[in-house]
Amino acid sequence: MIRLFQKLDELAVISSELEVNSEQQQMLIIDTSSFTTKFIESLSEAKAFIINNSKSNLLTIDGRPKSLQNILEIYTSEVVEKGVKAASGGHMGYIPGGGLYTAAIGDYIAAVTNEYAGVHYASPGAVTIENEIINWLKQILNFPEDSAGNLTSGGSIANLIAIVAARDKYKVKNEAVQKHVVYLSSQTHHSIYKGLKIAGLEDVLIRVLKTNHKGQIDIEELQNSISNDKSSNLIPFLIVASAGTTDTGTIDPLFEIGLIANTENIWYHIDAAYGGFFILVEEKKHLFRGISLADSINIDPHKGLFIPYGLGAVLIKDKRIALKSFNSNANYMQDAIHENIDAISPADISPELSKHFRGLRLWLPLQYHGIEPFKACLEEKLILTKIIRLNLVQRGFCVGPEPELTVTYFWYSYNNVNDDEFNKKLLENILQDGSIFLSSTLINDKFVIRIAILSFRTKLKTVQKCLEMIDLSLIKTKKFFD
Ligand SMILES: *Cc1c(COP(=O)(O)O)cnc(C)c1O
Repeated sequence: MIRLFQKLDELAVISSELEVNSEQQQMLIIDTSSFTTKFIESLSEAKAFIINNSKSNLLTIDGRPKSLQNILEIYTSEVVEKGVKAASGGHMGYIPGGGLYTAAIGDYIAAVTNEYAGVHYASPGAVTIENEIINWLKQILNFPEDSAGNLTSGGSIANLIAIVAARDKYKVKNEAVQKHVVYLSSQTHHSIYKGLKIAGLEDVLIRVLKTNHKGQIDIEELQNSISNDKSSNLIPFLIVASAGTTDTGTIDPLFEIGLIANTENIWYHIDAAYGGFFILVEEKKHLFRGISLADSINIDPHKGLFIPYGLGAVLIKDKRIALKSFNSNANYMQDAIHENIDAISPADISPELSKHFRGLRLWLPLQYHGIEPFKACLEEKLILTKIIRLNLVQRGFCVGPEPELTVTYFWYSYNNVNDDEFNKKLLENILQDGSIFLSSTLINDKFVIRIAILSFRTKLKTVQKCLEMIDLSLIKTKKFFD
């Protein structure tokens, strides 16, 4: 025994390193906060994209302790100064968001208090915060109060949860899989395909619907496909519509699709990962008419509410279905189960048990700022999108159709040069410049350059910088082909 106590004394000295004392805490925070403040200050001047694939072993774990200063230096050279600067307002590729500082404060507090947000019994407060966010989402998306929801790590998992619920409601399993039909469009996000695959629905029949010139699902084709499939003894079970496609920011005719889905008894999922929060903007509300007809909806706060990556959400109208798919018990959970209250726990609507208390990173900013700055920011992005398009047209660029939201695309036609070749080179030059980050996509097999304006840090000044960069890159590209 004595030897064990001696050993414990020895171990205690070493392991006590893990509980930093209050003085060290202050020091760490001061150093971290001066690092983050400098980082944020640098954003307006810094490049939004840095091509740097240089390999180094600085990030390798060698098991030896280092100073925070040293760690931050390594972080700066190996992480911050490589690739897309997602925190920058100059991130106008893919779907940006920015990353609110106050959300980081929420994360910090969530991590220090380490609330167990998986089950209500363990942290009724944390779970209530998560549920209050779900309630707020129900309210803005016109979902009934008794629907269920979950805060996920992002839109892909949110889509997966909805797909699993739909699968289980329609009992799509075993041989039946090959008789069930999913309806989506060429603009549907690839995470839906991934979700179907993960959910064991790889062999389901998929109808990729035609879209009109705006990229919206063609209602007539949807109706015809369903009728044809039914008359061939197939079972239509899932329609996926988009409220803001990733390529063009298009919103499908949600109401018309909803009527068909409800009449035909088909699960109606709306992927609003990108576009959903534009429902907060008065002049855009009408585009979301019919959203309440959905059985499930996916919306990403790490896009439209500018929260740092790692926060999506799913709502499922029929609470019983969601619980049936995800609720699971175990002996070691018996205290939690016997709690006998009807507050839903996140673990009941998700594959996760222990989880990051991710609600706080949204709850805190919403409480701290109130909702108005969020709305103003979204409205601002809509105007900036109009401005950049006007300017591109003035410069002789071709632009895609007027978007409903804040994703748009453009290309340049130059003399006899093949359009795709020219615009690929143009993007290459844009990325080389890197002051603003843009990405590309294919629209009807044509290579186009995409602009996505959603970061809360993207301002008129950023848009002007973007146009200057495009001007310079265009000159360079023309020279290349002359
Ligand atoms: C971003 C996006 C997704 C995927 O969401 P993640 O948060 O990246 O997993 C799904 N659908 C649409 C429409 C999106 O824009």
